[in-house]
Amino acid sequence: MNFSDSELIETLLSEQGLGRAAGESEADLILINTCSVRAHAEQRVMGRLRALKKLKDRRPEILLGVCGCMAQRMGEDLLRELPWVDLVVGPDSYRRLPGLVSRAGRDNPVQAAELVLDRAETYHGILPRRRDEVSAWVPITRGCDNFCSYCIVPYVRGRERSLEPEAVERQVALAVEGGAREVVLLGQNVNSYRSGPTGFAGLLRRLESVPGLARVRFLTSHPRDLSDEIVEAMAGCGKVCEHLHLPVQSGSDRVLEAMNRGYTRDYYLDRVRLLRSRVPGLSLTTDILVGFPGETAEDFGRTVSLMKQVCFDYAYTFRYSPRPGTAAAGLEDSVPEQEKKRRLQQVIDLQLAHTRAALDSMVGAEVEAMVVKPARSGQGKYLARTRGHFSVILPAESSQVGRVVRTVVTAHTGMSLVAGAGCDT
Ligand code: SF4
Repeated sequence: MNFSDSELIETLLSEQGLGRAAGESEADLILINTCSVRAHAEQRVMGRLRALKKLKDRRPEILLGVCGCMAQRMGEDLLRELPWVDLVVGPDSYRRLPGLVSRAGRDNPVQAAELVLDRAETYHGILPRRRDEVSAWVPITRGCDNFCSYCIVPYVRGRERSLEPEAVERQVALAVEGGAREVVLLGQNVNSYRSGPTGFAGLLRRLESVPGLARVRFLTSHPRDLSDEIVEAMAGCGKVCEHLHLPVQSGSDRVLEAMNRGYTRDYYLDRVRLLRSRVPGLSLTTDILVGFPGETAEDFGRTVSLMKQVCFDYAYTFRYSPRPGTAAAGLEDSVPEQEKKRRLQQVIDLQLAHTRAALDSMVGAEVEAMVVKPARSGQGKYLARTRGHFSVILPAESSQVGRVVRTVVTAHTGMSLVAGAGCDT
């Protein structure tokens, strides 16, 4: 979402005549777009802002701003704590950024904060400049109404709202006109998308008819809102890729309830069964959070057993850290750090084994992969992605970027597939 918001900010500022600087030392304005989901992310931003003080001492005319969730969470405290920061702008206030920038420049500079959360702001009417030509981020909802007890997002991004389907379709069509072949629909919980009579399933069906669009992906899904209708739309829409990121967080009903996730372990497993029966070849990824307050060894064992039962293709794994202002922050952080680290390592090791098994099973198979960009290894190698979102390293040419090719997997590196040259589908 922050990558997408950064494109939005860049678009708004470019309309004021600002352009991207080659680097920090040449910039007149430096904006840091921030995440508040974990304490570690915020600590890194604070470190970066402290490091930027030296640049600001040398060139006091530079404007330094903080955008995003941490700006919203800390607000004017951030300006007091780091007085060399000029602007603090929350996620619903980006339309005000150009005005703030020109005012701060004129008044040379004066600290300012814009932190109003707006129940209606969807940034309708702004067509973002995109950085990645093959795959375009398209936000369809903003904010979240779920209030998972560990999560700061509803407090810093406000209530959920959806962009009208016509506007989504227009954004998608324009992205395709600009060279994109794939769109990633974004929202904290895309499954609860609703605009008038159109829900998420209807939106997926609507995008099937966009000419030139090859693939549709979406992030993030909430198990509670993954209806049968959405699963049927995934099964029936040829452009929707066979990949779903479905965060489970824990395999223990007791912990899921304390997290306010709104589903049980059995319900989650039922969704997985339905998905796998209706969407053959589906690649399933998840988020796991260990060390939530009160998580016993038995609760943790339930998470491990769920992972073994489902065999996720990939999992983003985290250890709990309290976020001030959330419901869980009022609970005793009862699992010792050492134990959290041990549990985290156990789920990481388990997931590595499951990912490896998934990759092993694909060696020798023919896959459909979209060529995305040159691989870091260079030497004529390109990064491509399967419909299941596995990375594939294959020989290709720049003219093939954006094309979907068929290729045979010859090996894997533990994280990526390796394949021979592809032929066009
Ligand atoms: S669904 Fe839960 S975890 Fe996700 S953004 Fe909303 S409150 Fe946070």
